[in-house]
Amino acid sequence: MTDRKAQLVDELIRHTGELARAGLTPATSSNFSARLDDSRCVITVSGRDKGRLTPDDFMDVDMDGKPVEPGRVSSAETLLHTQIYRLRPEASAVLHTHSLAQTLLSMRHERAGYIELAGYELLKALHGIKTHDARVRVPVVPNSQDMPALCAAIEPAFADEPFWGYLIAGHGLYAWGRDLAEARRHLDAFEFLLTAEMTKLGFRA
Ligand SMILES: [Zn+2]
Repeated sequence: MTDRKAQLVDELIRHTGELARAGLTPATSSNFSARLDDSRCVITVSGRDKGRLTPDDFMDVDMDGKPVEPGRVSSAETLLHTQIYRLRPEASAVLHTHSLAQTLLSMRHERAGYIELAGYELLKALHGIKTHDARVRVPVVPNSQDMPALCAAIEPAFADEPFWGYLIAGHGLYAWGRDLAEARRHLDAFEFLLTAEMTKLGFRA
């Protein structure tokens, strides 16, 4: 393992551990990746407890989601990660979690196709947003176990302005950033803002 890859994997393990302890990765769900170069990323192996990852729980895949090392199985949602790297050259890390707020609010907004977040100071945590007086639409797509279908459902959103995350209804959030620290900041901001919206609507966590 190169030094850079080892450092990325160490950082991914730290973030996944923190997110697991915060309750965002229930029941071995969720998956995490970082870009290695233009043709590969490193991603979590399928089905491991995200609170107890080791470097052996990561593997390399190409940007079509195919394993670089034969015989290993990456996360079921690998194609959603590699789609983001292909369509957003600035994306260097992708974090996917399954919190209660992400799950419930995305179901409520599935028909609308987006959740609008407006007026929150924490919107400024999203790269490019300079004021609380902003409106951010987080796309929501229907859930599916067919990954190419899910990729096709979200692909039109990538034609719009830069954005840093989307929701899959009844499922969870994909968030990314120009580096791993920014991806984490975006994830934390979305989680806070979705929890605020959920509370405003009277949902109980
Ligand atoms: Zn998932």
